[in-house]
Amino acid sequence: MRDTYLPYGQQWLDDQDIQAVVNVLKSSHLTTGPTISKFEDAVAEYVGAKYAVAFSNGTAALHGACFAAGIVEGNEVITSPITFAASANCVRYVGGTVVFADIKEDTYNIDPLEIEKNITPNTKAIIPVHFTGQPVQLDEIHAIAKKYKLIVIEDAAHALGAKYKGQKIGALSDMTMFSFHPVKHVTTGEGGVITTNNYFYYKKLLQFRSHGITRDTEKIIKNDGPWYYDMQFLGYNYRMTDIQAALGISQMEKLDRFVARRCEIAQMYDKAFKDSELLITPQPLKGCFSSWHLYVIQLNLEKLNATRREIFDSLVAQNIGVNVHYIPVHTLSYYKELGYKEGSMPKAEALYKAMITLPLFPKMTDSDVYDVVVAVLSELEKVSK
Ligand SMILES: *Cc1c(COP(=O)(O)O)cnc(C)c1O
Repeated sequence: MRDTYLPYGQQWLDDQDIQAVVNVLKSSHLTTGPTISKFEDAVAEYVGAKYAVAFSNGTAALHGACFAAGIVEGNEVITSPITFAASANCVRYVGGTVVFADIKEDTYNIDPLEIEKNITPNTKAIIPVHFTGQPVQLDEIHAIAKKYKLIVIEDAAHALGAKYKGQKIGALSDMTMFSFHPVKHVTTGEGGVITTNNYFYYKKLLQFRSHGITRDTEKIIKNDGPWYYDMQFLGYNYRMTDIQAALGISQMEKLDRFVARRCEIAQMYDKAFKDSELLITPQPLKGCFSSWHLYVIQLNLEKLNATRREIFDSLVAQNIGVNVHYIPVHTLSYYKELGYKEGSMPKAEALYKAMITLPLFPKMTDSDVYDVVVAVLSELEKVSK
């Protein structure tokens, strides 16, 4: 057994990252300085989008995107139940109604057929989530969006570096959100970005991030002098600091290397597990490139004499930091109180009962991967029927 605990995810910082942060700490701008736009440019350039707007975290960025999209009370927004609560919460922040659409059994991503079934005259937007870094079926989703005139905001918190049919995720829909939480591909401590090709959304996002205030003299009607600004709608202080942005710029330089290592580890898992009938490995969507934020297996519970909980506990006891992503959002108390029902998303709920997330982060060594493989396979053998 391993003598140290292996977490499911972890950041990787080096001396260059630390020096980049120290340089900002010694400079004149800790926030709202020149480093922010350099970070935004680095992200926009990487994904091939015209604009990027940095936020204090990915959830704030999603809130901004919902605001910029004009989502208000009475609007319905469709998202996946297999995601982090933030993908749905952002709709609630602006007063909208969340509509969940069930997933596909193979990809674990939102099913375009289920999206279309749930469209009503009140539907305003779709928030597809590239769960684990595996791209959603964007062609199908964009066709639905065009047909019903809907806005698409991609939750790409897992998908920085992922490609849909050869094109990087980040410039393919109206807006795309990335998160820079430490477990994600690259980190700023806390941080998020919206990328877009739309100038109107870009300007709205910038203003929303800073109280709804503008200093743009063309937009200000009354102008008392050079100090004057106007607040034109109720925005927030969702700004990222230059300290975080400096870390982000330094981390972005390593992104491709991090993603390549994540892919390597996923391939090692695929190879090690492919002959086992006791578990199901992730099924990639043809023609797409996953950035492998998570490696989620499904236990074949029919062939096992143990529950997911028992297997989970046993792996943790062996210092293998497994996790579960995600508890279907519609089954969380807040959403249940709003009237969402357990049993309404059968595929998502069935997946939830059988899934386990294995450790996956670029700093893992081959020997760490080997430890996980041996622990998982021997645990499943031990409890197999
Ligand atoms: C991490 C994450 C977010 C939110 O990002 P934060 O930066 O933590 O606010 C949103 N959606 C998904 C799917 C995530 O994994």
